[in-house]
Amino acid sequence: MVRASDLLHRAVDFVGDDDMSAHQAATKLLASLGMSAPQTLPKPSFNRSLLPSPQEFWAAHGVNLQSKKGWILAKCIFHEDTRPSMSVEATSGAFFCHSCGVKGGDVLAAHRLLTGCDFVTAAKALGAWEKK
Ligand SMILES: [Zn+2]
Repeated sequence: MVRASDLLHRAVDFVGDDDMSAHQAATKLLASLGMSAPQTLPKPSFNRSLLPSPQEFWAAHGVNLQSKKGWILAKCIFHEDTRPSMSVEATSGAFFCHSCGVKGGDVLAAHRLLTGCDFVTAAKALGAWEKK
């Protein structure tokens, strides 16, 4: 016997975000099976504090921010770069390429640009998507 709360968790997992219509659909599904939804609905959400540090993330892409402060210049990881043309901010992980123009405010933005994935997929890939 599947517990109602497990089923709802599964339904929400399937949708992959906290879209209210998904919750409503799952609640309706449960009702149709004669089960009631749990009082508190699972609410997956983004937790910025779980993102890898800029040092960690950029090191994995060959950019060393170790014991650096402010903006440092590195070879761009978004285009074939021969001379360093990308600035990376050591504290926030923000980046801007003076050559190809890519930019973003944090490591999540960088991951999204590298992979072409959406916000939730990137948050999950970086371990910053929390199930409550
Ligand atoms: Zn570039």
